[in-house]
Amino acid sequence: MLLIWHRFFSDCVRLILKGERILTFGRRNTEEIKLEETKVWVCSSTVCKCWIRDNFKSSAEPLCPICNSKMILTTKELQVINNHSQKTY
Ligand SMILES: [Zn+2]
Repeated sequence: MLLIWHRFFSDCVRLILKGERILTFGRRNTEEIKLEETKVWVCSSTVCKCWIRDNFKSSAEPLCPICNSKMILTTKELQVINNHSQKTY
């Protein structure tokens, strides 16, 4: 029992230390978060909240992957995904 508590405690300490490191190193990253008007397809169903990015769609006029309803093209303010395999503009 004592050993379990000891392990739990040391895990907590490790998490706290990790968190501090993330905070100090993450400060620069939070400033770099960019929002961009992105083309998205939103499910036409009123009960379904599904949407997909235009560049992730499977066909010219995609159907909702959840409920198979028609999807409507619109735009959303989305965080720019830094994909290193793609060109950044
Ligand atoms: Zn749907």
